[in-house]
Amino acid sequence: MSARADLDVAVVGAGFSGLAAARRIAAAGLNVVVFEANDRVGGRVDREDLGDGLVLDLGGTWTGPTQDRIASLAAEVGVEVFPQFADGRNQIEFNGRVRSYGGTIPRLGVGALLDLARLQFGAGRAAKRVAAGSPWDARKADLLDSITLEDWMCQRHHGQTAQQLLGIAGKTIWGAEPREMSLLYVLHYIASAGGLDALLDTEGGAQHERFTGGALSVAERVAAELGDRVVLNSPVEAISTEADAVVLQLADRTVRADKVVIALPPPLCERISFAPALPEARAELQRNWRMGALTKVFAVYKRPFWRDAGFTGEALSDASPASLTFDVSPEDGSQGVLVGFVGGDDARSYAKLEAEPRRALVLEGFARLYGDEALEPERWLERDWAAQPWSRGGPVAIAPPGALTSGREALRAPIGRLHWAGTETAERSAGYIDGAVRSGERAAEEILAGHPARRSA
Ligand SMILES: Cc1cc2nc3c(=O)[nH]c(=O)nc-3n(C[C@H](O)[C@H](O)[C@H](O)COP(=O)(O)OP(=O)(O)OC[C@H]3O[C@@H](n4cnc5c(N)ncnc54)[C@H](O)[C@@H]3O)c2cc1C
Repeated sequence: MSARADLDVAVVGAGFSGLAAARRIAAAGLNVVVFEANDRVGGRVDREDLGDGLVLDLGGTWTGPTQDRIASLAAEVGVEVFPQFADGRNQIEFNGRVRSYGGTIPRLGVGALLDLARLQFGAGRAAKRVAAGSPWDARKADLLDSITLEDWMCQRHHGQTAQQLLGIAGKTIWGAEPREMSLLYVLHYIASAGGLDALLDTEGGAQHERFTGGALSVAERVAAELGDRVVLNSPVEAISTEADAVVLQLADRTVRADKVVIALPPPLCERISFAPALPEARAELQRNWRMGALTKVFAVYKRPFWRDAGFTGEALSDASPASLTFDVSPEDGSQGVLVGFVGGDDARSYAKLEAEPRRALVLEGFARLYGDEALEPERWLERDWAAQPWSRGGPVAIAPPGALTSGREALRAPIGRLHWAGTETAERSAGYIDGAVRSGERAAEEILAGHPARRSA
């Protein structure tokens, strides 16, 4: 630490990326403090504890077999995982009909099925040409980044059914519509997840397992290890780089550090003022990326009654604002919980409704899928992520056309004493908790590599 700094490293944000960065830096013996704006850690991962072992994951929930950094971190802090319930048949409500199906492919007409297979194959193949971590280096990157996912589906003459189904999945995966996202961004997201199946599948995919006690337990345990090195209720308002330190301006004090890790999604970085001004590529990136819109709704029942009828609780709907549902009952099935995802345009219009019509719309949708018992939950809960002041949306920040190629390396290249983390900067599992952990560990390594006092972890 220089004579004029209070800390070796300041971390902005106690989401999974900031906590993972701080944990690694602290383990190397450096003096690190995390400043978190909110009154809790976890960021886009949060929990509602309803008692009697019933815990709802309000944000990030699942993990999958390819997500090995969050798996290691959870194991290191002693948090276990259990499989997502997936016994039975899935449901789809489409064009006014409800049908059940096995696996990931819904039962539709032969033409629509072939078209969907062509869309999945085409997207998977295109994603293989985009290197995880450096989408801007892909062949024809500028072209891929100049159009939206919607443009691409139209150019390839995909039918309405396949387009609608990918649109429904996208509302939950990105909290966004196909017209909002650059094709290159979407392809990179798929590549960084390890392929389309890894993204979409429950068994063997990103929805494979849940954390006992909720995903927040992992963040809480890391924060407990860090102790008073995590400071809550401390939004960082300004960051200025001086010759011998970086100075963080908080509401009630200034903090000087040798280095800072900014562990936020790009749109949230835009709310911090930087001196000197950030290079244009980085500043533009922060202005261009925007948060997706995603609301989670939960209906809690005495029991998971849909299982009796042979349903997994996983369903797609083109008629309900909750266009995707899952069974998120406690592991022992002692109560039944359905979660619904309301994303993209649906989330924006849903937020404008009064509470009662919102609930009625979702429960009527659940009833069309699972029967009238779904109309009478014992409890009802919603979490609108766009309304969370320190997240402003979720699950992830999206890049509109042009944003990835104009920003390029600025997404994570350090600028002097400033290092960037956050799941959006991850080379693998970008958008996921695993990506957040990876990005934090990578930012920590950048700092430790250049630090004379580095001690092995
Ligand atoms: C509804 C929803 C469902 C999801 N489902 C899954 C899932 O099932 N599986 C999965 O792997 N991922 C899922 N995700 C995504 C996952 O939660 C995120 O990728 C991950 O939590 C991001 O972590 P992060 O550290 O990059 O960012 P964040 O969690 O956003 O952390 C940033 C932190 O910085 C704080 N902050 C903001 N501004 C300031 C400031 N000026 N000063 C100080 N602190 C500040 C914020 O309060 C926050 O704590 C989901 C997300 C949502 C919202």
